[in-house]
Amino acid sequence: MSDKESIPLASNFIRGIIDRDLAENKFATKKWAGSPGGAAHQAAGHIDTAKIRTRFPPEPNGYLHIGHAKSICLNFGLARDYDGICHLRFDDTNPEKESQEYVDSITEMVHWLGFGWENGKESNLYFASDYFEFMYQSAEALIMGGHAYVDEQTADEMRINRGTLTEAGKDSPYRNRTVEENLQLFREMRDGKQADGSMVLRAKIDMASPNINMRDPAIYRVRRAHHHNTGDTWCIYPMYTFAHPIEDALEQITHSICTLEFEDQRPFYDWLLERLAEAGLLAHPLPHQYEFARLNLTYVVLSKRKLIQLVEEKHVSGWDDPRLPTLAGARRRGYTPEGFRLFADRIGVSKADSWIEYTILEDCMREMLNDSAERRIAVLDPIKLVIDNYEDGKSEDCFAPNHPLKPELGKRTIQLTKELWIEREDFMEVPSKGFFRLVPDGLVRLRYGYVVKCTGFEKDAAGNVTVVHCEYLPDTKSGTAGADAIKVKGNIHWVSTSHAYTCEIRMYDRLFKEAHPGEGERDFLDDINPNSAHTITAQLELALKDAKPSDTFQFERHGYFVADRKDSLAGKPVFNRTVTLRDAWQK
Ligand code: ATP
Ligand code: MG
Repeated sequence: MSDKESIPLASNFIRGIIDRDLAENKFATKKWAGSPGGAAHQAAGHIDTAKIRTRFPPEPNGYLHIGHAKSICLNFGLARDYDGICHLRFDDTNPEKESQEYVDSITEMVHWLGFGWENGKESNLYFASDYFEFMYQSAEALIMGGHAYVDEQTADEMRINRGTLTEAGKDSPYRNRTVEENLQLFREMRDGKQADGSMVLRAKIDMASPNINMRDPAIYRVRRAHHHNTGDTWCIYPMYTFAHPIEDALEQITHSICTLEFEDQRPFYDWLLERLAEAGLLAHPLPHQYEFARLNLTYVVLSKRKLIQLVEEKHVSGWDDPRLPTLAGARRRGYTPEGFRLFADRIGVSKADSWIEYTILEDCMREMLNDSAERRIAVLDPIKLVIDNYEDGKSEDCFAPNHPLKPELGKRTIQLTKELWIEREDFMEVPSKGFFRLVPDGLVRLRYGYVVKCTGFEKDAAGNVTVVHCEYLPDTKSGTAGADAIKVKGNIHWVSTSHAYTCEIRMYDRLFKEAHPGEGERDFLDDINPNSAHTITAQLELALKDAKPSDTFQFERHGYFVADRKDSLAGKPVFNRTVTLRDAWQK
């Protein structure tokens, strides 16, 4: 059993709900006509073969971040596990701030995480704005049922009359208009005869409800704005709280899963769908909303507003800066879809808000990369090692396994020569206690090569060691009979100076130095870690010259590194540090 199987998956209460619903055959009569639509449309369809339908409903107004990954893994994961379908739905009912660029990047990142929305010939990629006509008809149906009215109070009046948590609201003076009057005004709103902000359509529920969301919420507003999908067809737009339940219902969603801040909206969600079912526009079973705690992750910010600020104020290089918690950034950093899926399983789904330690995410990445990444050798802070008794110009094959746990991945050849690069920290003139690497007169094994004995060293004027000298013991080569004749405690890695790829490596660290950026009175920008990125010039084994963009490796003893997908050229990759082998932040 591997490590990851032995750690039990965290609980996910939504699975309990689905198990119960399926046991009760709740969706046995639910129909699906092959595309979204209301009762009349779905009635012509067949019994839905998807056991459940979930959806991931991003608003295309920004790039996806690690929080979204939790929601994606949850919704698509449930659909996968329960023989269902998860729709990708762009919740694009708000014309401002939405764009095709975001649509494209979201689509790409959901695919990248390993999920799809296709079911045979059905794509199940939807745009909420395609439902504007149905939403409009739904609003008219509410008006005709006496469940909605056009309100001409100013925004201020509406706010004051909404009441407070302890005080009931006051009815609008426009609340008792006739159906005819409401219908006429609402059509004038639609037809561009009313000014932006002059009136709204409100649901007529209960101004004294203890739940403020039920105090006649606004459901349509006049807004002359160009929409990325519908252009200038509409000058009225539905409010999110009105649009979202309808989107779910048209798509025959069974479990509409959202974050906790929508809990107080659930009564309106149910109220609205029941009214539309009464009006014959929708059929039972209706979708149900379930709320879970959003992901809060230490050392990052997961709010679109803050991410936009980081990008626009150039604290980072762009949306895919490898330090950002956007999925585009995480991918470029070398984080993997497998790592994210493991993370989602491991943190589970609950209703209790909490902070997840960033190290849990990093451990998931380490665990998956440990399994998948081939090993290579890199000297990150090089000094020269000269084997004085080794023949000039000679080069000798040494064999290094590509993966210690996967012998089937074979070995590769690396060249040993007289002059090598070794890690500066692998030599100590005056060794500290427990230092088992290279010291004057000491023995150490050159990994996959010979045992060498240190015979001297050179320093520059500033006192820094520049060259270490040694002699090799000819019978001790790894993999030969003599290899075990001399036992040494230390084992260091090296790269031949004449078979090296000199390369730029970006050493990334956390973008924030505080676990909870911006906590209390602090500005989150003041918590930025000033040392979150630096670039070094390293000496890598020659084979790494051929790494393709996004190829991932473990550099032995250092961590996981990925060839940058943007800046790597053919035969000239640059690498990003994804994560160290061990957590350096643990106190
Ligand atoms: P932000 O708060 O960063 O602006 P958002 O919630 O407005 O994000 P949406 O595009 O509306 O962004 O999100 C799409 C889906 O992702 C929603 O269902 C939302 O609940 C979910 N989601 C967003 N952030 C998180 C998070 N931190 N943890 C879990 N799910 C999240
Ligand atoms: Mg949102």
